[in-house]
Formats: sequence, C-alpha cells, structure tokens
Amino acid sequence: MSIAFVNPPLDQYRKIMRNFDCATESKANYLYQPYDFLLMSARVPADCPFELFDAIAARWSTEETLKKILSFNPQIIVLAMANTSWDEDFLFLKTLQKKLSDTKILVFGDLFFEAYFKEQVKPYVDSILANPVFINFSELLQNRGDWQEAPPLLPLKKPHQFELGLPKHDKFIHSQYRWPFARHYKYTTVFTAWGCPYSCDYCIMSQFPNYWREANDILLELDTIKTLGFKEIYIGDRSFGLPYQNILTLLDGMIERNYQFSWSTYFHPNQYTPELLEKMKMSGCHTLIIGIESHDLLLLKKHGRHVTANNLEKLISHAEHLGIDVCGDFIIGLPGESKASILETINYAKQLKLDYASFNIAAPLPGTSIRKAAIENGSFSNSESSHYDSLGKHHVIGNDLLSSVEIQKLKKQAIRQFYLSPSFLIRRIKKLRGIQHFIIQASEGLKLLVKQS
Ligand code: SF4
Repeated sequence: MSIAFVNPPLDQYRKIMRNFDCATESKANYLYQPYDFLLMSARVPADCPFELFDAIAARWSTEETLKKILSFNPQIIVLAMANTSWDEDFLFLKTLQKKLSDTKILVFGDLFFEAYFKEQVKPYVDSILANPVFINFSELLQNRGDWQEAPPLLPLKKPHQFELGLPKHDKFIHSQYRWPFARHYKYTTVFTAWGCPYSCDYCIMSQFPNYWREANDILLELDTIKTLGFKEIYIGDRSFGLPYQNILTLLDGMIERNYQFSWSTYFHPNQYTPELLEKMKMSGCHTLIIGIESHDLLLLKKHGRHVTANNLEKLISHAEHLGIDVCGDFIIGLPGESKASILETINYAKQLKLDYASFNIAAPLPGTSIRKAAIENGSFSNSESSHYDSLGKHHVIGNDLLSSVEIQKLKKQAIRQFYLSPSFLIRRIKKLRGIQHFIIQASEGLKLLVKQS
C-alpha cells in the first residue's frame, strides 16, 4: 500500500498555494509549506510508504511530475486543485487518471464549494475530500469497493475538538518553502485549530467549521518538531487563541518546556487580552498578522466582521511594547468601498505603527458573498469564474463604485506608499534580527515591489 500527495505543476512556475479553504498566489518570494497536506500526513499509517510530490516547490514540468509519480506507482493519490488554476489542474487530473487508471484519486480544493466543479471532476476521481482532519486512510486502503463521497462537513460554526497525532514534518522540508515573517529559513507549520470561528462574508473561511486540538496533543507534536531541529514555526490557525483556556495551557506548556521556538501566527483583534499576548511573547511569538481590512468599521460590520478600533489599537500598542512585530492585512475594493474610503484606509495603514502591511484585492472566490453577488447580478457564471485571487494579477472584478482598473491602481498605490515611506524603512532596519532575518526580509521586500508596483 502506498500514498502520494500531489501538488501539481503550473505554467510559468506560478507560486500558487492550494488548500481546502483557499488558494493564494505568492505576492513576493515566499512559498508556504503545503500545510493541508502536512495536516493530512498525520493520517497516513506509519508503515505505509508515502511521498509528497510538490511540483510547485520543485519547479517540475508536467512531464517530470508524471514521471516521478509513475515511478512511485502509488495506490492512492491525493491531488490538490484550485479555482485560480482550474484549467491547468483539470487537465493534469485527466492526464493522471488516464495514466494511472487503477489508482484511487482523491481531490480537494476551494473550487469544490461549487456543484459545477464537483460535477466536472466526478468522472475522474474516487472522492472529493471535505477537510484534512477527518480522513481515515487505513479504512480507505482496505476498502476495495466503490469509494464514497468525502466525509461531510460538521455543522457550521460549532467548534469541535479533534485529535491530530503526528504530521510527518520530516517529509515537508524543502529549500523553497519560505514563510515571509520567519527569522530562520527552515520552518514548519503547526495548527492548534483548523477552520475559523468568525463569519466575515467576503472570506471563504467563514464557511468552514472550527476544529480545535487539546493542548497536550499539540505539545506532543512540538516535542517532535524540536527533535527534528526546527527553530521556526508558523502557527497556521486562521485565528489563533481559541478556546481561550486551552491556549493558555498550551502556552504555559511551551514556556515550561523552554522550546525556544521563534513563531508567528494570524490573530483576530477580538481575541486579544493582555495576559494572552504576554504569554505568547514568553513562548517565542515574534510576529502577529492581524486582519484590519479597512478603516471603515461600519462597512466591515455589514460584511459580518465586528471589531472595535479601540481593541485593535490597544493590541498594536501592547505588541509594540512587548517587541512583537505586527503585519496588518487590508482588503482593497470591498463592495460599497469608494476611492476616498480606500485612500483613507491607506492613510490608516501608515498611521498605525505596523511593521508590515499586506494589501489584498477583494476577489470573487468560491464561498464568498462577493462571488455570490457577481453570479446573481450576471457579472459571470460559475463556469467562467475561475482564475481570480487576492493578488489580482490575472483578473480583478470591480465593485459597485470602482472599476477593476481603478482597484488595481489603488492597490499598487497602497504598496508604494506604505513600503517606500522613510519611517517604514527606518523601523524595519532597527528591527532586524541577524543575517538570515535580513536576507529573508530583503528578498521578500524587493520581490514584493517588483511584482506588484
Ligand atoms: S477574514 Fe479572518 S476572521 Fe474573518 S472569516 Fe476569514 S479567516 Fe476568519
């Protein structure tokens, strides 16, 4: 019995990161570990031969990728697909299925939110997976009959505990994997929870339930990561910090075990308490990525995101005091956003004492209100609506007040104004921590400016 995880190749070596709940294109030089595959690897039985074929990281052509998979000759293939690379991914799937017709093929990706894409792939696959944490490969391996649909998603928004066990971190080491906020090249990803408890309607993650792990399950994984020699961790949660008491137990455990990890994570301002932030710092947290999105909190409220400026600003100022870097995530072109409002958001980004800012284009991704509205108002049909992402490199959809060209221009303006301001550059230089940190930051910064301005 053998299992292959396949991240298929792309034309022009586009750095797309495909996951269950989203697919994004690298905005600079980074390339995340394929972390949903990493999670799934915990479900591969210990005695089962297993390989990851990451054609994006290895920059393999279709022919090279197929050759390597054929020589491994797996009995199960799990293939990542994405809405933004639909044409190429679908062609790859069809070729793979033709060449390995006796192999069971399972697929996953953001596009399977929509019936159209499910119907398209059905003749070529044995199952469409719904999440990376409730897969039983042992059962699948024994099942020689017809395979059934993916395990159903559990009821929305009700948090569920699950036990993960040990992902195979040693199989996910590649020189091309870069986390842009890392202080060391070699890093790995850990999830304390998968999915998101919040309901921002422009975000596909709002459609997923929230699965969380008990602190001891996570600490066992961290013990293994330590023995593998990793110093840097990206905690891949969509919103770190829940359930609150469980996270405090985890952080106490990390402090007590004195791992000395250097780590970063996404953090929702509503989760902030001074006690939590201080324990995060003591356990090695050096960077938070915070969804700020827009200066217009009333607009955000209309989209299901409830935050207060006061809480956000308290969090940023406490992080500054503790020496934790903050990256603010912003969205340009949400429905109802005018040019004046976006310019105010750019100014707000500059006023907040942020160490980095990420400016994303509001995109009609599967599972979002933006896509639903675009389909309802006839801007496109499901089948035509691929190739969008928050980078906005290939396609950008306008909103009710701005054209796609205006939105793209404003995004470029945001990047230039934020990253080329003298106060930002002085701040970054002061905060550099060693030569690896400098090289990572310089290469990400240069690539960001070349790619997007
Ligand atoms: S924007 Fe962030 S907090 Fe809101 S649903 Fe998406 S991942 Fe969750």
